[in-house]
Amino acid sequence: MATNNNNFTTHTKVKYKIPESTIPRMSIYSRIFSESKGNDYFSSKDIAAITGFSSAQIRRDLSYFGQFGVPGKGYPINELKQKISAILGIDKEWRVALIGMGNLGSALLTYKGFKEQKFKIIAAFDNNMKKIASNINDFKIQHINQLKSVVKQNEIKIAILTVPGKAAQEVINHVIDCGIKLILNFAPIKLKVPDYVHLQNIDVVVELERLTYYATKGMRTLVLKKTARLFK
Ligand code: ATP
Repeated sequence: MATNNNNFTTHTKVKYKIPESTIPRMSIYSRIFSESKGNDYFSSKDIAAITGFSSAQIRRDLSYFGQFGVPGKGYPINELKQKISAILGIDKEWRVALIGMGNLGSALLTYKGFKEQKFKIIAAFDNNMKKIASNINDFKIQHINQLKSVVKQNEIKIAILTVPGKAAQEVINHVIDCGIKLILNFAPIKLKVPDYVHLQNIDVVVELERLTYYATKGMRTLVLKKTARLFK
């Protein structure tokens, strides 16, 4: 997958040009279609009712790969499922290494949703000798020094980092050195990676602050409206 200057993603395997902003919605469509049992078609209205996206948005998203609804029926679910899976690259299994087996890492290790979406955690790593050789859910925690050989032997392509911020840059450098180019980072720190590495950051506190911002904004709007009414 490559991104050009217009923020469009081109897929080498599947020749579609899709704006980056559409990708998270594709993920949601994929999950809905996978969970839909017994439905052959979905209208954009059906999809809108489940997702909360507008019908116009859905029609635009699905038209990026030449998918148009059948009048009176809607979109063929199986065909869409296959196309979206190919676009997202989830038509095959992805092997994942989890690094940093603290509270968050341990919770992710037992999360069933990864497997359902074709992500398989193959190995878990830490540098704390007390944790290494211990088991979580039948998983043996390995020393981070073993990462290179385990990645090679098991064709691991993705790493999830759940190490503390102060260790994250050193760990990510090592992960990249081991040949991994796709990294999901939970450490609350901005990390430097070379251009060929794709890094996604998830900072739970930033997301919570986004919520509190909206709550405060809502309150601010209410105060302004009340004040405006007083001066009428
Ligand atoms: P803990 O169970 O140790 O209290 P925690 O949930 O408070 O963990 P952190 O302090 O953020 O979490 O650490 C997460 C995990 O990352 C720990 O298990 C820690 O041993 C591990 N870790 C820290 N530095 C490294 C490193 N350089 N390489 C691999 N793992 C590391």
